[in-house]
Amino acid sequence: MKEQLEEIWSAICGELRQRIPADAFARWFAGARLLELGEKSARVGVANTIYQIWIEENFIVPLKESMLAVLGHLPAIQFQVAEGRAKDLPAPPPEEPEDAHNGRHHGVIGLNAGYDFESYVVGSSNELAHAASQAVANAPGKTYNPLFIHGGVGLGKTHLMHAIGNAVVRRGKTHKVCYVTSEQFTNEFIDAVQKGSLPRFRRKYRSLDVLLIDDVQFLGGKDRTQEEFFHTFNSLFDGRKQIVLSSDRPASEMRDLEERLVSRFEWGLSAELMPPDIETRIAILRKKLAMMKVPVGDDVLYFLAQRITNNVRRLEGALLRVAAYASLSGKPPTVEAIEPKLRDLLQEDHRHSVSIEAIQKRVAELFDLRPSDMTSKKRPASIARPRQIAMYLARRLTKSSLQEIGAAFGGRDHGTVLHACSAVADRIAADSSLKQKVDYLERELKGTQAT
Ligand code: ADP
Ligand code: MG
Repeated sequence: MKEQLEEIWSAICGELRQRIPADAFARWFAGARLLELGEKSARVGVANTIYQIWIEENFIVPLKESMLAVLGHLPAIQFQVAEGRAKDLPAPPPEEPEDAHNGRHHGVIGLNAGYDFESYVVGSSNELAHAASQAVANAPGKTYNPLFIHGGVGLGKTHLMHAIGNAVVRRGKTHKVCYVTSEQFTNEFIDAVQKGSLPRFRRKYRSLDVLLIDDVQFLGGKDRTQEEFFHTFNSLFDGRKQIVLSSDRPASEMRDLEERLVSRFEWGLSAELMPPDIETRIAILRKKLAMMKVPVGDDVLYFLAQRITNNVRRLEGALLRVAAYASLSGKPPTVEAIEPKLRDLLQEDHRHSVSIEAIQKRVAELFDLRPSDMTSKKRPASIARPRQIAMYLARRLTKSSLQEIGAAFGGRDHGTVLHACSAVADRIAADSSLKQKVDYLERELKGTQAT
């Protein structure tokens, strides 16, 4: 039961981290615990009343949203101040371990110890990214630099980045490792500009051995931050320090990102994370279940793995909800019992299920072609252009990777798909009647999705 509460709380924290700034999370929630969970109420332990007041006044909405997302229902939240038990509840984390005099930091920044290679399940969908991450962790700055990990939401990018950082630190290679999201980097930079502490900001980032910077797509459109990051990148790279970047899309598809940054992001190795296949999904569920110690039958695991296909975070969320349900009801859950409780998670997944085949079929119809033209090698523009439109739509409407899309179009490579996407984007921008046609197709295909 205690392990379960810990698991559930850590999932709630995962949700919270997406809703409140990282520093606020670290200060106010890192020491909190879920002490008790019932159908109607939940007890959250905090170190003292200041935490309770502060959380109630500032973070109660995100906390409730996070509990709802994980549990599927919202119990009344009660706080318990852990008087006399302060040793169970870690004190708030110290300020960033940084030497105020020279800005050089002496320790690891921002790593989540729970995300390591041991807890990462490897399958064909992620083996390249996983192998590259291990190579980088074994020899930071010496193999792939930068390592650029990209892929859809919830496929394990952040997990891999922390795993690299943790492995480097655990092997005692260095402690000058920093994980930041690109938003944190942006905020810190703006803050440093306002407070006149840029030199300190620069020393902090440029003295690192390993910089892990997550979700760099958010640098798009932020010109001054990009400029600063460009110099950070160069300084680390020239010093043979390791840089690991993640993004929800390939560097070349990044919006409003300076060309010189795009090209740097492509200097090293780009590895794409794809949605895991069913075997990997089951293996992930088994691994997470083993840590939770709740009895959940194989039928339930298969049900979850079959119904949630392209987002591991959601898969994990569903498993946690099942675990929470099992611990409340005190008996192993059945598929019938849990299905109604998982509707939101299952449905959301279904909304993304336009198939590439459906797209090819519809595009072929509209342009008066045969479906086989979509996969053939024919090159006349009357065929090649609609085919590119179909690839473009596949990119927008499905979660398939570039490789998978290429494969579905008669074994083309991912570069061909990328080229098709940008060619179509250019043509649409220049030709409003084509734009109407493509918009129409997109709306129609979305409408035909299973609900
Ligand atoms: P992303 O950063 O790509 O959105 P995350 O790294 O946050 O995704 O992963 C979402 C959740 O799924 C995390 O809890 C992570 O531990 C889990 N996860 C993703 N891929 C795997 C995997 N291959 N093995 C184990 N857990 C995974
Ligand atoms: Mg992430």
